[in-house]
Amino acid sequence: MAREYETFKEYLLDKSTLLTIILKTLKLCKFSVQEWNESTGRIQGKTRVSFGSWGENYTVSVIKEDNGVRVFFNSKCAMPTQVIDWGKNKENSEQFYKVLDRLIEEEKENEARKLRHPKVVAKDLKPKQKELKCKHCKAKLDKDDTFCPECGRKV
Ligand SMILES: [Zn+2]
Repeated sequence: MAREYETFKEYLLDKSTLLTIILKTLKLCKFSVQEWNESTGRIQGKTRVSFGSWGENYTVSVIKEDNGVRVFFNSKCAMPTQVIDWGKNKENSEQFYKVLDRLIEEEKENEARKLRHPKVVAKDLKPKQKELKCKHCKAKLDKDDTFCPECGRKV
């Protein structure tokens, strides 16, 4: 165990979509955002301070690669004199990617749903008009018919 932990994961999403999801992730993890630079793709802040912990400083870097985007997560002890992190930095990283992966899955499902139902047209919302049929021979009727044009019986 050291006082710093860094890891990265690759995602097949565009950078701006990822940044939006990452900000949501940090909020859900209750990690504060102190600095956020959209052009460099760097976000810095602090994890929550809990009993017996001074909290950690984290940095998220979103870097565009040839076939995807790399998301780095670095966590280090906020207290400079602390030499052992008792696994907190790794824990922060695991929590971050767990929430991030879940939100990305949700985003993908939403996208897929949009593709399956591209447009809701107003007429689809109206109840479908019931088709009139002769009760004897099942021939199609006009709403004004009193006698069936097929079998001639009264309808
Ligand atoms: Zn009929």
